[in-house]
Order: sequence, then C-alpha cells, then structure tokens
Amino acid sequence: ETLDKGLEKSKSSFFGKLSKAVAGKSKVDDEVLDNLEEVLVTSDVGVNTTLKVIERIEERVAKDKYLGTDELNQILREEIAALLSETNVGEETEFIIPKDKKPYVIMVVGVNGVGKTTTIGKLAYQFKKQGLKVVLGAADTFRAAAIDQLQVWADRVEVPIVKQSMGSDPASVAFDTLQSAVTQNADVVIIDTAGRLHNKVNLMNELTKVKRVMQKVVADTPNDVLLVLDGSTGQNAFEQAKQFTAATDVTSLAVTKLDGTAKGGVVIGISDQFKIPVKYIGVGEGIEDLQVFNKYEFVDSFFK
Ligand code: GDP
Repeated sequence: ETLDKGLEKSKSSFFGKLSKAVAGKSKVDDEVLDNLEEVLVTSDVGVNTTLKVIERIEERVAKDKYLGTDELNQILREEIAALLSETNVGEETEFIIPKDKKPYVIMVVGVNGVGKTTTIGKLAYQFKKQGLKVVLGAADTFRAAAIDQLQVWADRVEVPIVKQSMGSDPASVAFDTLQSAVTQNADVVIIDTAGRLHNKVNLMNELTKVKRVMQKVVADTPNDVLLVLDGSTGQNAFEQAKQFTAATDVTSLAVTKLDGTAKGGVVIGISDQFKIPVKYIGVGEGIEDLQVFNKYEFVDSFFK
C-alpha cells in the first residue's frame, strides 16, 4: 500500500483528468481520444508514448466499432502494461543479484539533486537486508557535500564506504573501492559518480575512464549502470535521460520523488522512449521508500 500512497498525487490527478475527458460521453469517439491524448501528455507520459497509446486505442475502436467509455480504464490499463512489457521485466518485488557475478558492480549516474545519494543509501539497505555484503564508493569527488552525504548513508545503513578527499580522481576512488570489495569478499558494490552535465564530452570521458579503471580490478564491470532521474521534473527527466544515454550505456533507471508529484506518467514515457527498464522507484525520503519497480503494481495503482 506504500506504492498507492506514494503515487497518490499522480493517481488523483490522472483520474480527475480522465473523468473530465469522458464526461457525458458513453462511446469513445474522436473527441474522447483528443481529450485522452491531452490527459496523457499533461500526465508527463511524453508525446511519443502518448501517440502510441492513442494509436492502439484507435485500432481497437476501429476493430470493435464501438468502445464504451466505461471500458476505457481497463483498455488503458492493458495498453500501458503492454508498453511497459516491452522494456521491463518488472515482475519481481526484490532485485536479485546474480550469484555468478561477485562483486556485482552498480555504477550510479545522474545530475545533482535528483536523489542519487538517497537512492544509493536505500539500495544498500535493501541489499544488506537480503544478507548481502555491500561496499559503497564515493566517486563523486567534485563536491565535498556528496562525499559527506554518502558517508551519512553508509553510517545509517552500517556498510563500509571507500572515499578520498574532494577533488581526487573519481577513477582512482572506483579502483580502490573495487579492490576493497574483492578483499572483503563483498557481494555488491555501489559507486556514486559526479553528474555534471556541463559538457557531454567531459561527462563521457569521465564515465569511460571510471569504467576502464574498474575493469582492471573486476572484468566486465560495471554490471549495471543505473541512471537516477527525478520524476517530479517531468520533461527535464526526459532531457537528462537523453544526455546520459548519449554519454554512457545506461542499463537501468531509478525514478525518484514520485510521492511528491502528479507526474508519475514519466515512468511510462521514459521507459518506452529509451527502451531502458525502470528498476526502482523512489516514493519518499525514508530508508524504506525505494521499491523494485513492478509494472503490474504500478499500472494497477493508477487504475484502481
Ligand atoms: P543527489 O544530489 O542526487 O545525491 O540527491 P540527494 O540524494 O541528496 O537527494 C536530494 C533530496 O531529495 C533530499 O532531500 C532527499 O531526501 C530527497 N529525495 C530523494 N529521493 C526522494 C524520494 O523518492 N521522494 C522524496 N520525497 N524525496 C526524495
């Protein structure tokens, strides 16, 4: 039920708009479809994904000749779940670290303020609860506050952290972290990185170097490049996804701050547009407020 509560704002806004879109109409016609298009776009699903959903519904209308507005909820629910199925495994409630990959290395990227550190802390907590040994690496060496904040989370979760002073080479911190993880026989390594988007080439070079140096310690790492996006920023999140996917191979997404926003639709749009699975969603500031993304639960929480 934390998911329902977390998505309350998105849900009530979506339903408010949806009921207006079909008010006084018993049949899905062009006008209803136009309204629906607007509902989806203003719910931050994104234009491309919205058009895809509308097209699918149009096809159903054409095929069945008549579609009652009372069926619209169910149909939207099916179509959105189908879209998410293209990119999301999304049936788990817990993220399982593959046993044959030890340490499993997660490199976390994203711009400042999106909730990167918080997400790392919550993740470390989840893994620790699963009985896994976690090591954090403070490779966002650009800001002293970033290192301090990660230390706060390491203390809270009681996991070791590897860090150097501010301004040191991020790749060097990543190298030390992996070495330390190997020595400690750790299961999971989570590496924080600096998310400065001041210059795409710099960002790309920095992330590439961090990766290359990590691979000197453990082959084929990182196993996961997790991009953290702030769901409450709507279209900005799309823009950041565009820039980071251009700079590095992002393999999964965490969308944060869905509790404070009516823009929950970004989860659907971003996953669809970038063909990258959403693995986690943040629904609060607390240590427990990170959920493994489950597409059915997500869609259901909108439509129930
Ligand atoms: P970073 O700069 O990307 O590392 O961002 P932080 O992890 O420091 O988070 C920035 C702010 O967002 C902090 O006040 C967090 O408590 C808050 N935050 C992070 N995730 C969530 C979330 O899922 N929901 C809410 N409401 N706040 C969040």
